[in-house]
Amino acid sequence: MSRRPVAQINLAAIGHNLQRVQQLAPASKVLAVLKANAYGHGLVRVAQALSEADAFAVARIDEALALRTAGVVKPIVLLEGFYEAAELPILLANNLQTVVHNELQLVALEQAELDGQLKVWLKIDTGMHRLGISPEQFNEFYRRLWQCPAVQPGIRLMSHFSCADLPGAVKTSEQLTLFQQLCSDKAEQQSLANSAAIIHVPESHGDWVRPGLILHGISPFTHQQGWQHQLRPVMRLSSRLIAMRKIKQGETVGYGANWQAEQDTWIGVIAIGYGDGYPRHAVSGTPVWLAGREVQLVGRVSMDMITVDLGQQPVETIGAEAVLWGPELAIERIAKYADTIPYELLCNITPRVDYQYITV
Ligand SMILES: *Cc1c(COP(=O)(O)O)cnc(C)c1O
Repeated sequence: MSRRPVAQINLAAIGHNLQRVQQLAPASKVLAVLKANAYGHGLVRVAQALSEADAFAVARIDEALALRTAGVVKPIVLLEGFYEAAELPILLANNLQTVVHNELQLVALEQAELDGQLKVWLKIDTGMHRLGISPEQFNEFYRRLWQCPAVQPGIRLMSHFSCADLPGAVKTSEQLTLFQQLCSDKAEQQSLANSAAIIHVPESHGDWVRPGLILHGISPFTHQQGWQHQLRPVMRLSSRLIAMRKIKQGETVGYGANWQAEQDTWIGVIAIGYGDGYPRHAVSGTPVWLAGREVQLVGRVSMDMITVDLGQQPVETIGAEAVLWGPELAIERIAKYADTIPYELLCNITPRVDYQYITV
């Protein structure tokens, strides 16, 4: 029995979810987004499980180099691009493709003297207002990139939605229309769609879709769960019941004594806390799956432990397995109780958690 909380990662489920993406966007190539340690699932293992993807995307160069060190040979795109000219030879040597989203990068490419050519994705800001050149700058950037000796012919064009997770948002159709107008006279490959747009905005699929969250089996929509899109959850986060005690009506549990028993009850202690990445802001009432039934979190989340209400006649014994999220308990539900999104829950898992990879 593991003494640590376990994040069990089902690599077969990742493969299934990739197939689901390919069904949803049959005419598009898949640029699988693996930033932030593959959404907390383990960068290299997830990349290896995605052998059918066409290319990978990460945020930063160190993530890309970790993949290369592990022997991953597929094309890799840096979504934030390079930060300084000195990185360009490293990109070239490691076959890394770069997003270009600002003038500094354009000038660095114009002045670069490289022994080869880099594949470039030009990012246009169509309304997210985070990264990307403005629509007014587009034609000039495009022309100058084509003239750069350091840039490979064939400049991919991309943008990013701000509201794709709100089905029917006007902003999404505005961004799509603007992007299509800008690209209409260019024969270049295009990419717009993140997970939410892959599901809900098929018009945006283009040449390359960019799924992140749905590869991990999770719905990008707050009112839905992965199974409703025929996705399979990939992570199963579990720990163990390590203590049980009976308390009387009116007694309180945990720091701040902010939960009080309405009747005599049994309290169970489970060995996981915010020091492992379980969200400290999960409120009393958050479900926990305990050896075959749902119980509720009571009191505050501690660093190493949480407490749950086992009721008046608990059937569990010490050592029972508790699942915090996974196939038995949708992470989308937990995110709501913790007033956050599944993305953040996944990224917050700490190195104290033991990762185990399975393939069934
Ligand atoms: C993170 C990211 C994605 C993937 O987003 P999901 O919602 O996880 O599918 C796609 N494109 C860009 C530019 C991103 O930063």
